[in-house]
Amino acid sequence: MTKQLLRSIDLRGQQLTLAQLRRAVPRAAADDTAGVESRVREIIAAVRERGAQTLRELAAKFDGVEQAEVRVPEAALEQALKELDPAIREALEESIKRAKLVAERQRPEDVAVQVARGARVTLRWQPVGRVGLYVPGGLAVYPSSVVMNVVPALAAGVSSIALASPPQKEFGGLPHPTILAAAALLGVTEVYAMGGAQAIAAFAYGVDSIELEPVDLITGPGNAYVATAKRLVKGMVGIDSEAGPTEIAVLADHTASAALVAADLISQAEHDPAAAAVLVTPSVELAEAVQAELRKQLATTKHQERVGQGLEGEQSAVVLVDSLDQGLAVVDAYAAEHLEVITEDAAAIAARVRNAGAIFIGASSPVSLGDYCAGSNHVLPTSGTAAFSSGLGVQTFLRGIQLIDYDRAALAQVAEHIVTLARAEDLPAHGDAVTARFREDSGESFGE
Ligand code: NAD
Repeated sequence: MTKQLLRSIDLRGQQLTLAQLRRAVPRAAADDTAGVESRVREIIAAVRERGAQTLRELAAKFDGVEQAEVRVPEAALEQALKELDPAIREALEESIKRAKLVAERQRPEDVAVQVARGARVTLRWQPVGRVGLYVPGGLAVYPSSVVMNVVPALAAGVSSIALASPPQKEFGGLPHPTILAAAALLGVTEVYAMGGAQAIAAFAYGVDSIELEPVDLITGPGNAYVATAKRLVKGMVGIDSEAGPTEIAVLADHTASAALVAADLISQAEHDPAAAAVLVTPSVELAEAVQAELRKQLATTKHQERVGQGLEGEQSAVVLVDSLDQGLAVVDAYAAEHLEVITEDAAAIAARVRNAGAIFIGASSPVSLGDYCAGSNHVLPTSGTAAFSSGLGVQTFLRGIQLIDYDRAALAQVAEHIVTLARAEDLPAHGDAVTARFREDSGESFGE
């Protein structure tokens, strides 16, 4: 019998609770997080102590680069844009145009509520002051991640944007030229050739000797070192999420094309040997046809080795279900970063999904569209965190400030309640702060 690339999980005929479903869906066993964490702690401490010197040492150690400057000169950004292949420039411009259109329209309006006469509470959306955007650059280069990080930050009105991406040996210790060109296209001029945990530490604490000021918020995907560093500096700075390896789940029925489903599973497995590719289907025929297509397409795909590792890893599987209803329960329990729905009446099925970072509806909305040119954002919650968090967007770069504006009569209306609640909490000075406002002048009383 031919060996299947995706392992099979058969849930047919089983009534599972949410807890059982969560255990049944394919997930990689947690990495050696303790080992990574202790290394990342050392890196953060070294960056705090020795700043740019540590950045240079780690660039030599991990990226094989002898670095003269960590800060990318603006001339190098301009040069990269000048030398950018016109077709890539055109594609990036289209990607930026669509992402901008969506992000700008998604900026929430301030909300002013008249609570009572003379009493107003307003929620004012205020951009974060300074952000550090991480653009990965280890296994692959991601100019698209420049777009996905920078566009919503600009749409939110962030005034200070710094960008970091690992130095590349073949480009003289600078980040990949396409990343530099994408930054230049978006008007970002503060770019650093630094990667991994050290880049996150530099953003969080600042590095005096290269005039890198600390940021308020760090966003962007990265490997386990980047994600762990973000977790460790969280609290002192904000972070978007701790992105894990990328995931695709496809909920498909007999109407789906096995060739297209296989192509989409391979496209995400191409990111990383730890990437997850999951097919959930009630159709045994489709499952078998997809397995055959995967074998066929794997033979000719460029990054065969890591795709093969991704598909064969325990994080990837075909999950057989009785029905699309059971399939929906499975995808909700899995809470995929990317979920494709390729079924009859896909929009109606997609409307019933509760947990996913992004839902791609129908055969003409593949994940690759969202990776580059849909207008949506491709930095999305992974590892089941879509159950409680959202992808990157204009809202990531905003904070809601509450404005409280009561006049004297409006305060008088609730003064007695405040005094009562303050007494109930044994915090009488809270009540006194209100009554003092009425005693001061005419000795006027309030309420009954
Ligand atoms: P990366 O830029 O995240 O990491 C590269 C850096 O890791 C190196 O510069 C080095 O500093 C550090 N590093 C490497 N080995 C190390 C070690 N042994 N100890 C300490 N530090 C070390 O690039 P990557 O590795 O290619 O990872 C990118 C990740 O981002 C992938 O998992 C990919 O799937 C993910 N990604 C996600 C999205 C998304 O939207 N969710 C988008 C793009 C990429």
